[in-house]
Amino acid sequence: MSIPTGRFAPTPSGRLHLGNILCAMLAYLSVRSKGGRFLLRIEDVDIPRCPRRLARQAIDDLRWLGFTWDEEPLYQSDRTEIYREALDRLTAGGHVYPCFCTRAQLMSLAAPNLGDTQVVYNRACAFLTPEEVAGRAKTRAPAMRLRVPEEEVTFVDGLYGAQRENLARDCGDFILRRSDGLYGYQLAVVVDDALTGVTEVVRGRDILSATPRQLYLQRLLGHPQPEYVHIPLLTDAQGRRLAKRDRDLDLTALSQRFTPEEIIGRLACSAGVLDEVRPASLESLIPLFDWAKVKREDLRLTGFGE
Ligand code: GLU
Repeated sequence: MSIPTGRFAPTPSGRLHLGNILCAMLAYLSVRSKGGRFLLRIEDVDIPRCPRRLARQAIDDLRWLGFTWDEEPLYQSDRTEIYREALDRLTAGGHVYPCFCTRAQLMSLAAPNLGDTQVVYNRACAFLTPEEVAGRAKTRAPAMRLRVPEEEVTFVDGLYGAQRENLARDCGDFILRRSDGLYGYQLAVVVDDALTGVTEVVRGRDILSATPRQLYLQRLLGHPQPEYVHIPLLTDAQGRRLAKRDRDLDLTALSQRFTPEEIIGRLACSAGVLDEVRPASLESLIPLFDWAKVKREDLRLTGFGE
């Protein structure tokens, strides 16, 4: 049996906010309550959006809140070679093709929406001849796409239960490396979770729909499948979703108003881990933690003076 290993994997494109901290807290409590390892990974594959300054700030914030981790934090921006090797393997297996479509062409596809920037790809570039590829490559660097099968991927989420998705119909061929050379989130996550021995992934419900793609990539790369628990989104006391733009809920503002124990205690109460608002250190919550206490519905923030 491998040691239970969890991780928190923030994308440092801004200061950590309460949604991130909730996720870090539940990931931490889940694995520490099993006596397992906790890792920190900085998901800065999108290098221009994630300056090191913000990554270092996130690490300082987590330390201030009382988090500890078992290895040096990993920076995805340092791991390009590792992602390249995984992409090469997938390419050698015939699963990858270059895509020359522009963003404007992609946005004009009339297909079910998968989020702000993603639509089911119409495979315009999926069957180009080698001559066509060579011709187009003269004027435009391609993105690299994974060809997905017409196949149901199923898994059981720790909170949300049985999930299924038909990759070709619901998601479409997706990008592993962008035309600017930056590796895509899906590939980097799968490679890093596998290489660092992650056995449980705890993250926001907004990523639930990406999981089938990651499971398929794991299978192609021969990696084991971790357990997944997607956690509810946070709302304010009125039930409105929190957004990154709510500046008063990021640590810049929060750390001036609350101690770490006040923040952790309030979040633990919002999540159902504590049944009253009181200051609590992360360590003190470990013996109290049980996924059965965490609700599936959106979690309303309590105690932050909303
Ligand atoms: N980097 C992602 C985020 O900050 C999380 C990815 C994951 O946990 O798999 O939303």
